This record gives sequence, structure tokens and C-alpha cells, in this order.
Amino acid sequence: MTTIVKEIRQQFNPACPSECVGQVELMSIEETKAALTVAQEAFEGWKNTSSVARGDILRMMAQLLEENIDIVAETASKEMGKTKNEMIGEVKRGASILRYFAQEGMRSTGEVLPSVSEAKLLYTKRVPLGVIVAITPWNFPVAIPLWKIAPALVYGNTVVWKPSIEVALTGKLLGELFEQAGLPKHVLQVVQGRGSTVGQVLVEAPEVKAITFTGSNGVGQNILNTVGHTKKKIQLELGGKNAAIILADADLDVAARLTVEGAMKQTGQRCTATSRVYIEEAVYEKALEKIIAEAKKIEVGVTMGPVSSKEQYTNILAAIDKAKAEGATLVVGGTATKGKEEGYFIDPTIFTDVNHTMSVACEEIFGPVLAVMKVKDYEEAIKLSNDTEFGLSASIYTTNIQKAFDFIERSEVGLVQVNDETGGAEPQAPFGGMKNSSTGAREQGQAAKEFFTTIKTVTINTR
Ligand code: NAD
Repeated sequence: MTTIVKEIRQQFNPACPSECVGQVELMSIEETKAALTVAQEAFEGWKNTSSVARGDILRMMAQLLEENIDIVAETASKEMGKTKNEMIGEVKRGASILRYFAQEGMRSTGEVLPSVSEAKLLYTKRVPLGVIVAITPWNFPVAIPLWKIAPALVYGNTVVWKPSIEVALTGKLLGELFEQAGLPKHVLQVVQGRGSTVGQVLVEAPEVKAITFTGSNGVGQNILNTVGHTKKKIQLELGGKNAAIILADADLDVAARLTVEGAMKQTGQRCTATSRVYIEEAVYEKALEKIIAEAKKIEVGVTMGPVSSKEQYTNILAAIDKAKAEGATLVVGGTATKGKEEGYFIDPTIFTDVNHTMSVACEEIFGPVLAVMKVKDYEEAIKLSNDTEFGLSASIYTTNIQKAFDFIERSEVGLVQVNDETGGAEPQAPFGGMKNSSTGAREQGQAAKEFFTTIKTVTINTR
């Protein structure tokens, strides 16, 4: 008799690393392959379920998510460190995403087109793809999975979802809620495991028709290398190094508040976080003073949580040390607020005297670190803000309408903000970046249909 030994992973609270918050059983490669097989088998039935009924299940899921908001927010907060308030906001956003896509079940998925022949009825019909693999990061453990799973399901696909192992308990909870919402067996499966094993199996599986991935550029590139030569559809949402520009005519109070919010919200662990700010020299000192004052208002451990893990903690502190070694001037933070044994807390950190080529100005740090740079004028600011491999989001703070519109045209990003912070997304609006930040169709809004369906063109000769 063979005894199968399962790998059990314990989850620890980054705010208090000695506290075990639960454990999860990781799946083997065989179990992952079995999940793909049953997802393939479930596809026919789900595809033939009316889209209105599919939408009803998403609506029920939204309701269950709201009824369980406390447990979902608490679990995710303890797994990855986001404050409970931030997590409650994210769960509410998850419910909105579900309701938006529930409505998609009642919207048209095709169009009638004129034909050259009077006798012909010519129309298009969007149809599902089949088995979709969704691979998600830890930083939005509820919203990102839902903005992939909800459209995939409502358009009639089955989904095999691999959450980040860092937020496995939250993933398990969401899977259970979908089951309670009435989703038929095997239409959505949560596969728990490491990226390098289970994730790789999912990416390579021949029965998978599309892969939607959000995470780091390294892993995204690896997925592209693995499946780029196949016919699989790929959607990659990757990193960012998002810039804000503060012009001399801006409302400096608003600009400083939103720049700091953009940089430090969720401890800077958002792909859309503001990580560089270019300030016109005429208001540089004044704006910097206000930015520093805003950063000092943040209460670490109360309004700002820890970073998500020991690995994040070590990497961010190393990036801070590198910035210091490269000659940037530390004006706020730069250290761990408390000892590591008390939690992976890092102070909001601001550097000045940053040269555009320093690592703090070029590399994604994914932590509460902001690089401040002085520029001569708007032209220099737009040139430097675009001088990056990334193209996710950018903001301008100005009261000059011509410059705002010029920025909208010339900014090489997918998400352009005027007098608003670099982060933020609404379910009805397309989300994604340019350059090395994204590949494939946009997520959310009507754009999601592009990725999760394909088109049949139908001709009926009526005579
Ligand atoms: P990550 O790339 O380490 O992991 C993302 C997911 O990929 C996880 O589920 C992981 O297990 C899986 N994975 C790892 N190796 C794999 C492999 N070989 N094959 C298949 N799957 C594999 O990213 P992370 O640390 O979880 O998240 C942080 C990153 O995500 C940052 O770079 C951030 O900018 C990015 N991000 C981007 C967006 C966006 O919309 N553009 C949103 C949030 C986060």
C-alpha cells in the first residue's frame, strides 16, 4: 500500500509572524491534472446554461460575499497584512465586480450586420473558449481573482484558478462561497500550490484555451516563453513604476495628499502605486514639504499595515539600502518601524536628490517607497515620466487644461489620471497597461468580453 503524504502549508500573520492563522493542503501535480480534466468535462453543461442563469449565480455570490465580509476581510488581512479596513473596501469592490458581470448575462453578445444579399441574415455571436486558467497574485486577494473569474464564468467558460500561495486561505473561502452560491461542481476549481510546480502544469496543459495572469514581469515572461508558440490566448497584467507630475499651477494640498495616498496606500504594494513624482522647480520646496507632512500623518500599524511577508520585508529594505548607497537622500522613513519579530512593518519612505537612472527611480520596489525628483518644466517631466519600461498608470496634478490634455495624449500608459492618484479601478472601465506592463486584451468592463470569448459569424440564406 502506498501512503500519499500531502504537503500542508501554514499561513502566518505578517503583522505578528509567530501567529499561525491557519493551514492549507497543497495539491499534487496529479490532482492538478485531474482538476483540468473535470473542468473540461464540465464545460459543455456550463456553456449550455443560459447566460442569465450564470449571471444569477454571480449575483448570489455577491450577496454571500457581503454577508461574509467580516470573515473574508479578516482572513485576507491576517494572511497578507492589508489593514482590515482596506480589506473591507476590497471585498465591497469584489461584490461590485460580481454584480457588474452578473448583468453581462443579460446583455447582447452579438450583432446583426447588413448583408450584400437581401436574402441573407448575417450576424455574430460570441461564444466561450473552454477551460480558462487564472493565476493571481497576493496583493488583491479578492478583487483580482473576481475580475478574472466573474467574466470568465458569465460568458460560459469553466475556470481553474490558482491563487497565490500567500493568500491560500482567502482563496479557499472564495471557492466555498462560489459553491454555496450554486455554481455547479467543477465549473470553478481552486487549485492550491506553488507556481513553479502546480502553476507550471496549468500553463502547459493542452486542454487550456486561455491563461489570464496577474503578477511579476519575471513570471509573466516565463508564461509567455512557455505558451507563446501555441494557440492559447494570453492576458498578462504585470508590474509598474508609476509616475506623478506636480506642476507649478497645481493645487498643492490635493497633489501632496493624493501623491502620498498613491504611494503608501496598501503599504505601496499595488501595481498602480505612485513610486516616482516629478515636481516643477518653481514649487518644489513647497510641494515637498507638504508631501513629507502627509507621509508623517500615516500611523504604521494602524492606518498602514505591514508588508506581506518576510521576503517582501527583506527585499524592500534592501531596495532602500541600495537607494541610499546610490546617493539618494532619505528624508522620511527608511527603516523598519518595529523589530521583525513584531511584524514586517516598514515606515513610509521618501527619497529626494534622486537621479533618473538610480534603481529607486527605475525598478519596481512594491513597497512604501517614493522617489521625488525636481524638474525644470512640464516638458522635462513628461519626458522622464515616459522614460521607463513600464506603462501602467500615471498622474498629473495641474489646473492648466491644455497641459492636462497634452498629458492624456502623450503619456505612455494604459491608465491616465488628471488630479487623481495613480491607483484605482472601477469594474465597468477597462484596466491594463502599455509597454512591459501588460500583454493581451484589457481586463474588466466591456473589454473583458474580448478575452473570454471568441466570435462566430453566422450567415443564414433565407430563400
Ligand atoms: P508573482 O509573479 O510572484 O506570482 C503571481 C502568481 O504566479 C502566483 O499565484 C504564483 O504562485 C504564480 N507563479 C509563480 N511562478 C509561476 C510559474 N512558473 N508558472 C505559473 N505560475 C507561477 O507575483 P506576486 O509577488 O504574487 O505579485 C506581485 C507582482 O504582481 C508585482 O510585480 C505587481 O506589480 C504585479 N501586479 C500587477 C497587477 C496588474 O494588474 N498589472 C496587479 C497586481 C499585481
